[in-house]
Amino acid sequence: MSGHLTALQRGFGRQLWLGVLAFVLLTGGFALALRSVQLDRELHERYQHALALAQLSFEVQHLVADLRAGHASAHDPEHVLAPADLRRAIDTRLAAMAGLPLTPQERGRVEDLQQALRAGDTRASTGDESYIRIDRALHALVAAVRERTELAARDAGRFNDAAQAALAVIAALIAALGLAFAASASRTLAASRRLMGQLDQLAHEDALTGVMNRRGLDESLPVEMARAQRLGYPLTVAMLDFDHFKRFNDKRGHGAGDALLRGAAQAWRKQLRPMDLLARYGGEEFTLVLPACDADHAAALTERLRPLMPEHQTFSAGVATWNGSDPPEELLRTADIALLQAKRTGRNRTVVAGREPQMALPLRVA
Ligand code: GH3
Ligand code: MG
Ligand code: MG
Repeated sequence: MSGHLTALQRGFGRQLWLGVLAFVLLTGGFALALRSVQLDRELHERYQHALALAQLSFEVQHLVADLRAGHASAHDPEHVLAPADLRRAIDTRLAAMAGLPLTPQERGRVEDLQQALRAGDTRASTGDESYIRIDRALHALVAAVRERTELAARDAGRFNDAAQAALAVIAALIAALGLAFAASASRTLAASRRLMGQLDQLAHEDALTGVMNRRGLDESLPVEMARAQRLGYPLTVAMLDFDHFKRFNDKRGHGAGDALLRGAAQAWRKQLRPMDLLARYGGEEFTLVLPACDADHAAALTERLRPLMPEHQTFSAGVATWNGSDPPEELLRTADIALLQAKRTGRNRTVVAGREPQMALPLRVA
């Protein structure tokens, strides 16, 4: 039993570790997937900024070209964005880019552009010089952002490839862990079933003699009665009680008494049919439950059991056949009364209930 218990504990331990491992792998996989999504989002944001900056750069270039050619003034309303709006748009874009993890180079370009924006007249009435400076700074920033974005795209691509491979490995490992868990759980279930079986056996087995105990008898007798009724065969019980066993104990000691109880039970069991039940009712008293057996056959059986007693010990027996209506305890009581008659009429004999005392079987000569 302790073997099954150890197997059970080891199984639970293994399952716990498999669960922890699966959890760690799942967490790792989740973190990888999350990082991949984060990188993609960051990249997307960068693309948006790069595109917006390129558009602004185009606008500024256009404005500068127009100013140089004298085609337009800085106030020309025909420009897509008025110069002041263009400055504000660049400023707003720079502020939005503050959330990005910029490289020192990009940061330097941003500062240059901010300085260029501050240096010029916001109304852009002083000619094209300030716009040329803004144009150059913006151009440099666009180049820096594009370079960094390309690098980021390459890094993100590499990371995503690695993450995909890692996720595939993690999925395979989790599947393997799942299989190992299922195998371990099924072994644990089998061990637990065996353990339950043993516990059940222990609960119904008498520790000294190995035969059924009183609890087992209490549970089995009603079942046997129901079966006898259904199948229409007689059911007989016999109560067997060692004669003057106290004397034996006093003379030979309790250990010898225990050995006698064990020896008798084991020897009797071999004499019984597989369908017969032998139970230790208590102390030095045993009960036989004999399906498909009438009183005469039961009495004959008790006689066959007498010579099997070790140490020339004798016993008395009371036999009762079920009338088909009495409850189990009443049937046992009837057999017990017959046993009492056997004791009263000299011991070492069998009395059948309803035939006492003159029907008592003859004494066995010890
Ligand atoms: P009787 O013929 O009237 O049955 O006499 P008895 O001495 O057998 O009956 P009594 O009920 O006076 O004593 C039963 C004895 O059985 C008392 C006890 O020492 C012994 N006994 C009961 N259980 C055990 C046991 O588990 N081991 C041993 N060694 N003796 C037991
Ligand atoms: Mg006795
Ligand atoms: Mg007794």
